[in-house]
Amino acid sequence: MAQFMDVVSLTKGIRSMFYIVTPNESSFENVEDVPPYVQQATPFFMGLMVVELVVSLLKDGTPLACVSDVVTSVSAGIISRMPTLFARGFEITTYIYVWDNLRLLELPWDSAWTWWLAFLVVDFSYYWVHRFAHELNFLWAAHQVHHSSEYYNLSTALRQSLTQQFSSWVFYLPMALAVPPSVFAVHIQFNLLYQFWIHTEVIRDLGPLEWILNTPSHHRVHHGRNEYCIDKNYGGALIIWDRLFGTFAPEGNKVVYGLVHKINTFEIFHIQFHYYKYLWRRFNRYKKIFNKFGVLWKGPSWKPGKPRLGDHAEVPEVLPQGERKRESDSERGCVRRVELWRDRECEEGVEDSVLAFLVYLHSQKGHI
Ligand SMILES: [Zn+2]
Ligand SMILES: [Zn+2]
Repeated sequence: MAQFMDVVSLTKGIRSMFYIVTPNESSFENVEDVPPYVQQATPFFMGLMVVELVVSLLKDGTPLACVSDVVTSVSAGIISRMPTLFARGFEITTYIYVWDNLRLLELPWDSAWTWWLAFLVVDFSYYWVHRFAHELNFLWAAHQVHHSSEYYNLSTALRQSLTQQFSSWVFYLPMALAVPPSVFAVHIQFNLLYQFWIHTEVIRDLGPLEWILNTPSHHRVHHGRNEYCIDKNYGGALIIWDRLFGTFAPEGNKVVYGLVHKINTFEIFHIQFHYYKYLWRRFNRYKKIFNKFGVLWKGPSWKPGKPRLGDHAEVPEVLPQGERKRESDSERGCVRRVELWRDRECEEGVEDSVLAFLVYLHSQKGHI
């Protein structure tokens, strides 16, 4: 019997990674009863990463990433979850506040209609969370962490920002006027879990599913620094929002991953916070108040006299080998240049990652 239960929870755990769950098995009356799905998924993150490594070795005979990059990504994932060790997640806390004080109607928590509506609305809201995170520079300061790896594999999915959760909650509040917090708490977790498996090069094309779902192919484009990839494919579980709002781009030329301006470091705290320092320097550089606020409220590539999102033709050219021309230090004052860093398989900063991991293990609790 115990073995049967193990198999059931194993298959349920695997299905959870792909959002293949029914309303019946994932509807709860109280938010306290909602399982911490993301935390429970840790063994599945690790298991799927091993599967990906084996498959890619069998397929191409080449490793997907360097160890430092994987450790940095996993550490960023741990750091991003740290606030939830001491309190409920920021998104759910603010959501409950609005539900308790401002709700206009109460959709039934145990209705499949509510479940499916919440699935759609969470994903729609995520599209806007993500789009604003790319199009407003002060939000990009947080989200750039997720794009800072020059590799693309399942560990990249874990490379999350510590600070993004302090702004993303706003976008989910309209839902709190009608959808119970327990339903939201389920979908916000499955939406995040779904986005794990799409960070891979092992899966190339999913046929007709590419029309509706966000897939590895679509999300590879999102992580690209080729000109055709910039500001494209913001979807979470569904790609339909990008198709509707004109931000969709299919995968074309080989995608080269990472930030347009590379940061060349594995130091996890530098990766998390360097952009705020850069923003502050740019904010102070301009004398006119309009330009100062342009730095914060317009796109990362914006400059005075340019369109809101900057001129994508100015994106540094991606060369065939995946390398590109050097930009001057004056363009990116706070960026460290480490010549030949790939050759050195740079280990600096990995000590910070290990430290973060140990702190996490010591303080782990079961909050959502
Ligand atoms: Zn993004
Ligand atoms: Zn991603």
